[in-house]
Amino acid sequence: MLTQDAPCSTSPSIETAPPPLVVLCGPTAAGKTIVAKELVEAARELELVPPAKGLMTALSGDQWPDLVRTWLNSEPGDDPPKRPDVDRRTDLALLRDLEIHSGARVVESAVLPMLLPAANTALVIRLTATPMVRARRIQDLVPEVTFQQACAIVDRKDFATCVAARAAWGIDIAERSAPRWRADLSVGCPHEFECPDENGCVDAVVALVRGAYAVYQCFLTGETFREWEQSMLHFKGLLSTHQLFVGRCSPLLIGSCREHTVAQWRHRLLFELDATEGLL
Ligand SMILES: [Zn+2]
Repeated sequence: MLTQDAPCSTSPSIETAPPPLVVLCGPTAAGKTIVAKELVEAARELELVPPAKGLMTALSGDQWPDLVRTWLNSEPGDDPPKRPDVDRRTDLALLRDLEIHSGARVVESAVLPMLLPAANTALVIRLTATPMVRARRIQDLVPEVTFQQACAIVDRKDFATCVAARAAWGIDIAERSAPRWRADLSVGCPHEFECPDENGCVDAVVALVRGAYAVYQCFLTGETFREWEQSMLHFKGLLSTHQLFVGRCSPLLIGSCREHTVAQWRHRLLFELDATEGLL
């Protein structure tokens, strides 16, 4: 069971529709960039906020031999966090950018879901994959590294991301509970050791993310009941088809509540903290 039914609010509320904001989080090589691109492709109103240069982006470029060497030369934990002040400024600039721009946006960030207020109007999606599956993806980009080296890169990058978040903000993103319940949808490749069908897994994850986005939009824009119901039933169908890919889903995305307002979405965690968590 993924979720439990959300109680309905009894008081109607009026709030100006904020622009959609999709926040994609999750570890290196979990698929954030490809999902962001596919979502922007499907929902033309969305604009992609250029991410800080992530490991996967860097590995796709020309500098990867040096980059790989730096990740393999020492053990995880050898390096102190490099520039927490720079990380803080980067995150603050992103938050300000999201606040002052009125357009619909998609952003990739490991730490942003934990910096947003608990009552926010974003759609937070966490992408997941096991370290071994993520290591295989790195190997696909850099075939010269062995599987063991790719695993070491994943370990180091995960560790460095956690250290940076702790140094910049005092946030422990390795802690299991909070990052999960801050995500409205947690989806990813369900395979443990090796993904037998990367394209199929990406397609399933993208379909789920698109489906969730359609329902989320109904909350922001106050679509008619019929439009909301259609989106919600379509998304429920996707959840049923791809249930192995889903670790957590906000009850509001599949709830039977007749209201779908901005205020209800903003305060969704009031309904959701008891939602059942899955395995991802
Ligand atoms: Zn897979």
